[in-house]
Amino acid sequence: MSESRSDDGRAVARRTGVLARHLAQELSPVSFFQPSPCLAYQPPELHCDKSSFDKSVMRELLDGHHVALRDSFANLMISSDLFVNKRVGNLTFATPNFNTTMEEHRDKTLDRILFFRSKGVFKGWLTDSSVDHALKRAALFETLGTFDHSLAIKLGVHIHLWGGAIQYLGTKRHHDKWLKITEDYQVRGCFAMSELGHGSNVRGIETVTTYDPSTEEFIIDTPCESAQKYWIGGAAQHATHTIVFSQLLIDGKNEGVHAFVCQLRDQYGHVMPGIRIADCGHKIGLNGVDNGRIWFDKVRVPRENLLNAVADVTPDGKYESAIKDPDQRFGAFMAPLTSGRVTIAVSAIYQAKVGLTTAIRYALTRRAFSLAPEQPEVLLLDYPSHRHRLLPLLAKTYAMSFAAVDLKNLYVRRTPADSKVIHVLSSGLKAVFSWHNLRTLQECREACGGQGLKTDNRVGQLKAEYDVQLTFEGDNNVLMQQVSKALLADYMSAKKRGKPMKGMGLEHINGPALVIPEDLTRSVLRDSKFQLALFQLRERGLLELLSSQVSSLVSKGVSMADAVISSYQLAEDLGQAFSERSILESVLRAEQQTTGSTKEVLGLLRSLYVLSAADEGPVFLRYGYLLPKQSQLISTEVASLCGELRPQAVNLVDAFGIPQAFLGPIAFDWVEYNSWNNVR
Ligand SMILES: Cc1cc2nc3c(=O)[nH]c(=O)nc-3n(C[C@H](O)[C@H](O)[C@H](O)COP(=O)(O)OP(=O)(O)OC[C@H]3O[C@@H](n4cnc5c(N)ncnc54)[C@H](O)[C@@H]3O)c2cc1C
Repeated sequence: MSESRSDDGRAVARRTGVLARHLAQELSPVSFFQPSPCLAYQPPELHCDKSSFDKSVMRELLDGHHVALRDSFANLMISSDLFVNKRVGNLTFATPNFNTTMEEHRDKTLDRILFFRSKGVFKGWLTDSSVDHALKRAALFETLGTFDHSLAIKLGVHIHLWGGAIQYLGTKRHHDKWLKITEDYQVRGCFAMSELGHGSNVRGIETVTTYDPSTEEFIIDTPCESAQKYWIGGAAQHATHTIVFSQLLIDGKNEGVHAFVCQLRDQYGHVMPGIRIADCGHKIGLNGVDNGRIWFDKVRVPRENLLNAVADVTPDGKYESAIKDPDQRFGAFMAPLTSGRVTIAVSAIYQAKVGLTTAIRYALTRRAFSLAPEQPEVLLLDYPSHRHRLLPLLAKTYAMSFAAVDLKNLYVRRTPADSKVIHVLSSGLKAVFSWHNLRTLQECREACGGQGLKTDNRVGQLKAEYDVQLTFEGDNNVLMQQVSKALLADYMSAKKRGKPMKGMGLEHINGPALVIPEDLTRSVLRDSKFQLALFQLRERGLLELLSSQVSSLVSKGVSMADAVISSYQLAEDLGQAFSERSILESVLRAEQQTTGSTKEVLGLLRSLYVLSAADEGPVFLRYGYLLPKQSQLISTEVASLCGELRPQAVNLVDAFGIPQAFLGPIAFDWVEYNSWNNVR
């Protein structure tokens, strides 16, 4: 057994001994008459130390902005029966009631949006372009996401996708006509990009639009079944209008994908002539969103309905665009997706927080097995294995929270010069965060045992509700390819021009690489400079490998595109390495804003984040960045860090600030919750 494993064993024995004495004192009058007293719930706080850091300071850092506003949104929800579904003792639980039909969930979701509208919450969201409004909007989405994904997505499709398309792809005439009524929810917008035959490959969509100069109208058509619009959020029941993405054919020439405004339903909810709509039906989650399929039968819309910020068609039918390069033009039409991608990336971290808060609180109140006769059963979190399952995920969630705040700030304060870094970073972080979220929810579900499967307790249900994060707004695998392609292009171009790397945090490649000391002592392993250099070493190594593999294939006559596709393993690893290095830089920035005990606990979390990533990722060993012996030292250090963070576990999840009402009952007195008195 390694030194730290035996340390862990002693720590468990010590803690178990203390608890045994504590319980013996507390329960002695009962146990005298009753040798096997029933389980009594004890709050998790009893089994953790007092907070060593200021939880409100930590929450400010984690949320990054509008903490009080988030609480006021949550309180607004908790004050209404539209959101609350159970009260037990003095606890209120606000969760969507999943024991309803799909239709009821959809209606409730719309009612909840209208509730927020009635409170004036959306005012200025699209008509005021200040940073403060953008951040307030983000605060609401993050709060809604901890309550119900359907609510956040149904509103997100209307605001970010439909509203965002009008904002970014439209011009003044569209802004004047649509933004205010969108904000007021007088129209209900959706976003019809994906088709049955083409999702990730938007360029391949088959919907066709032509222009008729005699009436100055565009004619939108679904020429075949694979061109039917598919998965369109809001289309099945509630949307009145949509943005249709379509190939634009002018004088027989395909000018590529363009976006048009098209009405789907009249004021009475009847589907407009020339439009056919079908329901996508029941899904594994997200059933509060009415996803639909749309066919356009040569539907005519006025010329003004082309969102013409990127390109226009004159009344007599001439195509005009300031962007001559079709690739760049296509990129410009994808702009609305970025805000959705940033929102999804950030919100994924909040659901991981719900899972971890629940599982860690439960692990501090649930016992299983005694280590010796007459000893109390051991708390789940006192098992080193249980800690090892949850605390590295906690450290990653902290690290990713800081990166999420940085990403959001970069996005809301963007200048045109930031577009590339925003595209690459939001793609990488959306993939890494949403994968992390699903992995965390699964681990938390299992860590709660059977209780994790109960919908009331939320964790298990959230997996199904949030699974779609991995697929929409860019499939994660496809996004990761885009990240590594962008990095590779920059690297190859800098090499060709004999210039240093610049931007996206890649400047480290211009300097010497880290030489890893053979003897990785604890102080080296916990040193932030070493940790950053370790991540940089992996990133530069993978970039060099990918570049030389692709170059070698190209020199043998393979096309560049084929060479990149067949190097997919290196490309995926590089996307991960880039994202994890960026996340670490955000952690370091957050740490710099703190002092004293907050800095100390963040240092432990940062070390656990880096070392558990190094422990889990095969790349470090596969390409020889670490030797097996060094890798073993890292594993040992991960276990030690889990032990050191254990006494602060409940404080660390409290600092997430997830409202009590949004957590499942197993995060609280689950014995009382399940007692006969509460059976109704
Ligand atoms: C619940 C839900 C809501 C949605 N809402 C909307 C909406 O409101 N509006 C809208 O327009 N769309 C919406 N979508 C569609 C969504 O954006 C697409 O599903 C997504 O883009 C993926 O496309 P696809 O389903 O066609 O999968 P595909 O693109 O066919 O991908 C299938 C698999 O192939 C892999 N793959 C694809 N290309 C490559 C490649 N080049 N190399 C290697 N592997 C590859 C992917 O990784 C994936 O695993 C929604 C989808 C869902 C499920």
